[in-house]
Amino acid sequence: MNRTVLFSMVVLLAVAAGQRFTHRRPKPQTALMASDMASVKRFQPMNATHSRSGGLTNGLVVLDPGHGGSDPGTHGPDGVDEKTITLAVGRDAALELRRKHVHFIMTRDKDKYVSLPRRVAIANRNRAALFVSLHCDEYGYQSMHGFTVIYAQGASRNSRLAARLIAKGLEEQHFYCHAVRAETRHLYVLDKTNCPAVLVEMGFMSDPGDFGYLRTRPGQHRLAQGVARGIVSYLHHTKRGR
Ligand SMILES: [Zn+2]
Repeated sequence: MNRTVLFSMVVLLAVAAGQRFTHRRPKPQTALMASDMASVKRFQPMNATHSRSGGLTNGLVVLDPGHGGSDPGTHGPDGVDEKTITLAVGRDAALELRRKHVHFIMTRDKDKYVSLPRRVAIANRNRAALFVSLHCDEYGYQSMHGFTVIYAQGASRNSRLAARLIAKGLEEQHFYCHAVRAETRHLYVLDKTNCPAVLVEMGFMSDPGDFGYLRTRPGQHRLAQGVARGIVSYLHHTKRGR
């Protein structure tokens, strides 16, 4: 099929789906590229503005599955790419957030390359409330294992709060916490986002135990539940005063 026609159909279907399942959903603050919206709408919450019975209205969460397309990230022992794991967890986390009526966008929902500036632009243009990037640690001494939640050096109080609460969410899913810490290197997505931002290294690909949960669907689903639980907890904590 002609690519333009196919693309138009995808956009129309996505728009139709969005209209069917949402009402009173606020428009994005600024327009994304159409290609972004086509992928984003698939994961829009059913009722983003729900507020009377405990729904979360205080902002948009950006879920950022690391790497993608020509950028595979790091590799596991059996050739599984980091990009595949981050996307699987990101998708599962998106479903969890939708269930909890959290308004969110994914920077990618398929195996495609998205530049770091584009990821940041999606957050900044939509005035996101929280940016959560998903990755896997590559190197480590053999004894190093567990997840790490990172925020930028000098990050806001809310970035540190989000990091702590996402770590708590993962611990509640029985994952081992390696560290919650400020990043000494400059990481683009943490430095350039205007909103509170964290990066979750979900485990060490180099550790057989971590890789055991990173590469399996049950493990990925548990990771997603932990991340989503932390995000929801963060939104509850920051609801007052906004
Ligand atoms: Zn990575």
